[in-house]
Amino acid sequence: MKKQFIAGNWKMNLSLGEARGLARKICDGLADSEAVDVGVFPSFVYLKDICDILSDSKVFVGAQNMNMEKCGAFTGEVSGEMLKDIGCTHVIIGHSERRTIYQETNSMINSKIKAALFNDLNPILCVGERQEERDADKTREVVESQLSGGLDGLKSEQVKRLTIAYEPVWAIGTGKTATPEQANEVHVFIRNTMRSKYDNDAAHCIRIQYGGSVNSKNAKELLGQPEIDGALVGGASLDANSFLNIVSEAVRFS
Ligand code: PEP
Repeated sequence: MKKQFIAGNWKMNLSLGEARGLARKICDGLADSEAVDVGVFPSFVYLKDICDILSDSKVFVGAQNMNMEKCGAFTGEVSGEMLKDIGCTHVIIGHSERRTIYQETNSMINSKIKAALFNDLNPILCVGERQEERDADKTREVVESQLSGGLDGLKSEQVKRLTIAYEPVWAIGTGKTATPEQANEVHVFIRNTMRSKYDNDAAHCIRIQYGGSVNSKNAKELLGQPEIDGALVGGASLDANSFLNIVSEAVRFS
């Protein structure tokens, strides 16, 4: 069993005061638990504050996105170097909301992953199919192409630093969750794909999170699946108790 990794994607939510309060509650509620890796992903504008609040804790802080360029005339964008500079250790790349709303392609996602690794940030690469793709039995095809495109040109040593989040788009923010078996089946597929593209060692090292309406009620069953190594949590990560309950469930399986 691997150490589970529970990550909270706060998306475009919370006031500064609320974000600070949530970070403190999570930090206090975790006590000294080393059994599980925990990370929070606040909005860009709160990152520095949250990095400062959590600097002496074991909670990772990461961004929800970044630009692939080093610096320059890219109005409104944030670089990997900037994230590293303020204390971030992680970054979510290729979330389905970025793919859909902001038309991010696999090629853009690939450049962002390379830029993140160059800046010593650990990427969480999100993959997952839409409802119509699942209905058309295309889940594997979609996930395979997101992995191939997103990881193009990366070496085994680089890939080991990744977390992959399998997030079926139809389960994100909808209250619909993949059954633990459905999720595990795709996780097995992802693990095997990584084994065939890289090697056993890389495939084994990578943690594969499940994301899509994870909450304190369904976490136990999902995290108990053999190939699920954690969760990327949206809505339920905005409430400290719910998030901490998910972390507690993960402790059993780490
Ligand atoms: C997410 O946005 O990554 C996510 C999984 O959201 P939710 O938990 O709200 O479905």
